[in-house]
Amino acid sequence: MSRQQPVELASGGNMAGHPSRMQVPRVIPDDDTLERLHDICEVVLTDDVSLAGASRDWWPISIKWAIDGAVPALPAAVAVARSAEEVAGILAVCRESHVPVTTSAGRSGVCGGAVPLFGGVVLDTTAMSGIRDIDAKSLTARIRTGTFGPPVEEELQRNGFTLGHWPQSFDISTVGGWLACRSAGQYSTRYGKIEDMARSLQVVLADSSIIHTGSTGPRSSTGPDLNHLFIGSEGTLGIITEATLTIHPVAAASCRRAWSFNSVSDGLDACRMILRRGATPAVLRLYDADESSLHFGTDGVSVLIAYDEADQGLLDWTCATIDQECASQGGEPADADLVGRWFEKRNDVSALAPLYEGGIVVDTIEVAASWSKLHSLYTGCMGSLRSLEGTLYASAHLSHSYIDGACIYMTFAGQMDGERTTATAEAYYNAAWQRVMAAVIQAGGAISHHHGIGIHRSRYLRDAMGSTWKVMEALKGALDPTGILNPGKLGFSSYIAETPWP
Ligand SMILES: Cc1cc2nc3c(=O)[nH]c(=O)nc-3n(C[C@H](O)[C@H](O)[C@H](O)COP(=O)(O)OP(=O)(O)OC[C@H]3O[C@@H](n4cnc5c(N)ncnc54)[C@H](O)[C@@H]3O)c2cc1C
Repeated sequence: MSRQQPVELASGGNMAGHPSRMQVPRVIPDDDTLERLHDICEVVLTDDVSLAGASRDWWPISIKWAIDGAVPALPAAVAVARSAEEVAGILAVCRESHVPVTTSAGRSGVCGGAVPLFGGVVLDTTAMSGIRDIDAKSLTARIRTGTFGPPVEEELQRNGFTLGHWPQSFDISTVGGWLACRSAGQYSTRYGKIEDMARSLQVVLADSSIIHTGSTGPRSSTGPDLNHLFIGSEGTLGIITEATLTIHPVAAASCRRAWSFNSVSDGLDACRMILRRGATPAVLRLYDADESSLHFGTDGVSVLIAYDEADQGLLDWTCATIDQECASQGGEPADADLVGRWFEKRNDVSALAPLYEGGIVVDTIEVAASWSKLHSLYTGCMGSLRSLEGTLYASAHLSHSYIDGACIYMTFAGQMDGERTTATAEAYYNAAWQRVMAAVIQAGGAISHHHGIGIHRSRYLRDAMGSTWKVMEALKGALDPTGILNPGKLGFSSYIAETPWP
């Protein structure tokens, strides 16, 4: 229920020992600006340990840098906001002084989104915590966005409800981070992605006005849905301070299923047909043969696991549908204990740090495509990773399904050559990402399903958005004319310098 980093920074909390890895100008607010921030916020941190803590998130290549004692980029101050009004005040001061503001929550992002690329001020949202109210009749909850996952579920479940949003990073991420990155929980096939849950938002704009988006009813026909302007905007268009999200009664029963397939393609067809029949099991995951072997000890088969929670009648039908469609695609029933094995290990990322410490680069890439493109996207991406010099391991699973397509989640590990230096790690890392992003764009897929863009994917976003990019630029120009909000992220150019690549 708090921030956590994959590895300790080498050389302790001494900032002098933590050079910034990103070679860009660092904006340092003057004394007057810092004084004005102190007038607004009770807590403004400028000590070395706090600045080093706010300089990084879970962007995997920065784990390698942390082992070397370097951080991605250091801020000059961390301003901890307790209310939307304080957020508005911080933005006013920074706007007037042309100081960049990077919103930072759980810092569990994996693309460098919370890294204060050009220094300036980090706006820490985590003191804006707690559930404001629960509407038990309409099934909505109004939640302050700095709230981490565990207190959200604890309070909801005390009242008999669940949000149903269980990202693997549940313990270390916040409601605001989920909204800002269009997060997906492990039960998304039943409860939806975070954008499906959002009914209305309170947002502080760069001009310090506090607005409320969304309708007062469940749906409306009152112009475009402006919630979606801010959901996924990663702190570049406004700061989300409160959200009204849909909730659900805690389910009465649950069920589990496991099947195996001789090919990924048969398993994908089974998933597609399950969704097409109208079944939405909370968890529906299909692992390719390498990943099945790693997680379940199987040999040469693709394992499908399903878990659902609902009323018994609905579960009976859902499980019967899963069984029928898996059998129709040539699947073999497998031990449902495999689902239990997944539950035991599902949030365990303890293998990551030792691999980095051993000089191996590891990362995950989650992308999405329609069913008609999904198999070629999978084979294209796997081929591009496996044929890359230095790849030691590459595998994938289907993690989130929809009636029209699904998310493919890849894991890869490697090293460019025999020498395990930071430069060769970066070279391998960049080559792997470039290959996969090119394969996804070529296959007609989405370059991210739920991790977002941050610094790392910024270089690919314009190509991926094509003709719609000019709309993004117009929005940025209109909502943040001085460009202070999270500069250098989400593909936007910045008034300070170009976004560099590691
Ligand atoms: C081990 C691990 C597992 C993960 N598993 C999942 C998963 O299953 N599903 C998933 O979706 N993601 C997953 N992630 C990625 C990450 O947890 C999500 O992107 C999460 O939504 C980030 O939330 P955060 O509070 O940590 O945000 P941060 O990392 O602090 O910030 C992320 C971005 O959001 C912006 N931001 C944060 N709060 C606000 C706000 N209130 N208003 C405006 N902008 C804001 C920041 O500026 C930044 O650009 C995982 C990460 C790790 C490390």
